Amino acid sequence: MDLLKELEGCRTILITGHIRPDGDCIGSVMGTYLYLKNALKDAVIVPMIEKPASEFDFITDIADIRGDFQTDISRFDAFIGLDSSSSDRYGDALRFFDDAGKRIIIDHHISNDGFGDVSVVDPKASSTCELLFGLFEERFIDINVAEALYVGVIHDTGVLRYSNVTPETLVVTSKLISYGFDYPRIIDETFYEKTRIQNEMLGRALVESILFMDGKCIVSKIDRETMEFYGATPHDLEGIVNQLKYTKGVEVAIFMYELDDQSYKVSLRSGGNVDVAKIAKFYNGGGHVRAAGFTMSGSFHDVVNNLSDSIAMQLEGA
Ligand code: 5GP
Ligand code: MN
Repeated sequence: MDLLKELEGCRTILITGHIRPDGDCIGSVMGTYLYLKNALKDAVIVPMIEKPASEFDFITDIADIRGDFQTDISRFDAFIGLDSSSSDRYGDALRFFDDAGKRIIIDHHISNDGFGDVSVVDPKASSTCELLFGLFEERFIDINVAEALYVGVIHDTGVLRYSNVTPETLVVTSKLISYGFDYPRIIDETFYEKTRIQNEMLGRALVESILFMDGKCIVSKIDRETMEFYGATPHDLEGIVNQLKYTKGVEVAIFMYELDDQSYKVSLRSGGNVDVAKIAKFYNGGGHVRAAGFTMSGSFHDVVNNLSDSIAMQLEGA
């Protein structure tokens, strides 16, 4: 896809990503925003996602994000949806989707069936940011664009450690860091550094986790009472599921936190023998083979029982 060609004649452009934005979502929205500002001088471009966590404040012009989802524009010539496998992931930005002149979808989730007027979905790309770098014209990439895209690559690959890293990921990363931003600082401050609350939540989740299916599965949960007691937000729980997965012998890790009474946000991680995207999609969620999620109603035990069956079926079939 020639992104700039697709946007020819578009005077108003909305850029959005998914609810509870992670590093790849924030990096891809901001990278695209900064890139299009360089390339299209006359267009009005609006980046719109929930307000990113404060550790991302260093990204140039991040304050331009409309975290309140408000804008004077009622209809956009182009709607660019990033890092989201289905339109229900857009949150309040979804109201601009149907009326938009053109819907452009750019994503790397295997569960994305390409629902735009123009869609680029590449499940082999480590991150939406990696995919975007290949779509951007070099002359409009500057250090600020490169820095934003780097954030997404780093976050979706666990700092270039996960199996979604390909030779292409490293080529892209090498080109990105050649722009000269302070990448060790980005890694430390956005990926490894945790607040006291985040460490407390991680500690509790690890201590209270339960192994089952002969140690092949691990599950842990944080309920609303605990979150309220510590003053923790969903953002404070990111990364817990990955740490659970690092338990030796574990094939599938499940982490869930209570959204409402009898409703859980569920995160799944797999070593590769179980396709958790398939399981998440069954419960109206999505993701990748080794990392996926969904929202489910029911008690903790209902969720675990349902998931156990789905996981056991795949493990037995393997
Ligand atoms: P996490 O477990 O870190 O929230 O998400 C892991 C992966 O699954 C991410 O790529 C994320 O986009 C996807 N994912 C998580 N929750 C949902 C969901 O409720 N719906 C969809 N479609 N994808 C999800
Ligand atoms: Mn992503």
